Amino acid sequence: MSTAPDVLTEPLRLATLRNVFSVDLEDWHHLNCVDDTRYLLEALATAGVHATFFVLGKVAEREPALIRDIAAAGHEVATHGWSHTSLMLLTPDALRIELRRSCALLQSLCGRRPFGFRAPCFSIMQETLWALDVLIDEGFVYDSSIFPFAGRRYGLPSFPRTLVRVRRPAGSLIEAPLSTVHAYGRNWPVSGGGYFRLMPYRVIRRAIRTVNREHTPFIVYCHPYEFGPRILFHSARHSPFSWLGSRLDELKTNLFRPSMRRKFAALLHEGDFSSFAEVLPHEHA
Ligand SMILES: [Zn+2]
Repeated sequence: MSTAPDVLTEPLRLATLRNVFSVDLEDWHHLNCVDDTRYLLEALATAGVHATFFVLGKVAEREPALIRDIAAAGHEVATHGWSHTSLMLLTPDALRIELRRSCALLQSLCGRRPFGFRAPCFSIMQETLWALDVLIDEGFVYDSSIFPFAGRRYGLPSFPRTLVRVRRPAGSLIEAPLSTVHAYGRNWPVSGGGYFRLMPYRVIRRAIRTVNREHTPFIVYCHPYEFGPRILFHSARHSPFSWLGSRLDELKTNLFRPSMRRKFAALLHEGDFSSFAEVLPHEHA
């Protein structure tokens, strides 16, 4: 056993090592996610890969047919909460309400209750470790919200980089941290989203091999909007200084966007990916 900050963890070895493909299903500001999600479903079907979709409750309420189709295609439907509010802004009771509301809706659409969670903006951090207790209390089997690196907006650099079982007084759950590689004395995020946009495909492949050599599944995350052809705009800010910040954010968000479809198609065909439901121990079955 080892101690991450205030959390007792023990390594979890899988009998068969496979990688995990996960999608955080949400809109981009006012850009509806349906068309891009349909594209992703087709790409997954072509590659014969099952993924985990962390579905936002608000999206499921508006697009029930899409969620039913995701489940019917054999993908795992897990929850991303209801309103995409960072846990930094929620109380434990407010998180509980978000989880219960989204799980009830997803269960009514898919016929089974989700047993996995990803926090909006990877917001399980030092200040929000209480969320693990709420998840255990609400019967979740696993969480995949912790990014073990020192990020500007999120991250818990002292958390283990591998799959672990988290022990708390109320019980335990599996934590599947987003993938990082350790080099030059620190952890570097390599798990998907913007990091995949910026990394050449050969670097992504090498990162997957490095993580797998540690007997750890590589956890990929992405968002439907990352596959669309449109330029993504950030909301306008008011002062000239923050206007410049918005434009820089836009540049970062759109850089190498056209490479995403190609990179993910290659990844899906050679990465041995599946959903958390199929990769983790079957205690939830
Ligand atoms: Zn999200």
